Amino acid sequence: MTDTPRQTSTEILMVGPLLPDLIATLESRYRVHRLWEAQDPAAFLREHGARIRGIATSGRFGATRELIDALPALEGIFSFGVGYDSIDIEAARARGVVVTNTPGVLDACVADTALALMLAATRRIAQADRFVRAGRWTKEGFELGTRLTGKRCGIAGLGNIGRQIARRAEAFDMEISYFNRSPRADAPAHYRYCPDLRTLAAQCDVLVLAVPGGADTRHLVDAAVLDALGPKGWLINIARGTVVDETALVRALVEGRIAGAGLDVFEHEPQTPPELNAMDNVVLLPHIASGTHETRRAMADLMLANLDDWFSEGRVHTRVV
Ligand code: NAP
Repeated sequence: MTDTPRQTSTEILMVGPLLPDLIATLESRYRVHRLWEAQDPAAFLREHGARIRGIATSGRFGATRELIDALPALEGIFSFGVGYDSIDIEAARARGVVVTNTPGVLDACVADTALALMLAATRRIAQADRFVRAGRWTKEGFELGTRLTGKRCGIAGLGNIGRQIARRAEAFDMEISYFNRSPRADAPAHYRYCPDLRTLAAQCDVLVLAVPGGADTRHLVDAAVLDALGPKGWLINIARGTVVDETALVRALVEGRIAGAGLDVFEHEPQTPPELNAMDNVVLLPHIASGTHETRRAMADLMLANLDDWFSEGRVHTRVV
C-alpha cells in the first residue's frame, strides 16, 4: 500500500471490518465511518448518509439495496474480493453508482487452495494428520487414499480462477473438461467443453466449482449433479456456498452417493453442517482460499487504487458496473 497523502473530507462508509492495515490507510486518507459499530445503523444513516460518497466493503459484507438507497450522494462501492454477489448490482446500476472488485490478483492463491483441497480430500491428508496427533499410528495402520494423478478434472467456471486450477491440475496429468455458459475461445484446444453440468459431473472424477455466486448459479449443484458425479467422484468448492444445495450434498455424503468433498465455502457461513463436521471424507476450510499475506495485500492495493483514483481522477481500474 502506498502512503500518498489524500484529502480527508471525502466521507466513506465501511460496512464491516476489513484488514487492519487497510482500515488504517483508509482512515489516513478519508473520513471513514464504521457502520458495524453503530448502535442504531438506521439512525446513523439518517444522520450521516447524505454526506457519504463511497462504500468500502468486501464480498462478505456486500452492500444491500436498502443501504445504497440510504446514501443519496453515493458515487462508488469499492469491494475487497472478486465475488460481488453480496452487492446489489442492479440497485447500483440504476443509481449510476460505480462498483469495483479485485479480480486477477487472487487467482493463483485460490487455485492453490483448490488443489490443496483436491489432494487433502482424495489422499485423506487432514484425516491422516488427526490420526497421528491422536496417537493412533503406534497402534494401527492408516486407510489407503485415492490417487489424484491422472484422474479426470471437471471445472465448472473456467474463468480467471478456473484457468489457474486447470493449469495446476494438468501438472498432475489430469484431463480437463469444463462447463461455462459458452465455450471459452482462448481455452487450450485439448480442454473439452461440456455445455451441461450434469454431463460434466458424469464424465469426471473430481468436480471443481469456480463459478460466481448469486441468483444465476444458486444450487447449480443439486442432487442430480451429485448423483452424476457418483460414488467415486469428489466435489471441490472454492466458489460460493450458494452454488451447492447443501442439504442435498449432506444427504449424498451421508448415503455414500459421492466419495467425498473439499469445501472452502458454505451456504450459511460461518456455520457448517454438523453432519459434515463429523465426516472423515470431507475437508472443511473457513473460506480461506485467497488468505495469504501476499494476496490479501495485493487485493487491498487494488481496492485502494480503485477508491483513490475514483475520488482524485474519476477513474477506476477493475469495474463491475
Ligand atoms: P470469472 O473470471 O468471471 O470466471 C467465472 C466463470 O464462471 C466464467 O468462466 C463464466 O463463464 C462462468 N460462469 C458464470 N456464470 C455462470 C453460470 N451461470 N453458469 C455456468 N458458468 C458460469 O471469475 P473468477 O475471478 O474466476 O472468480 C470466480 C468466483 O470464485 C468468484 O465470483 C467468487 O465467487 C469465487 N471466489 C471465491 C474465493 C474464496 O475465497 N473461496 C476467492 C475468490 C473468488 P461464462 O460467462 O461463459 O458462463
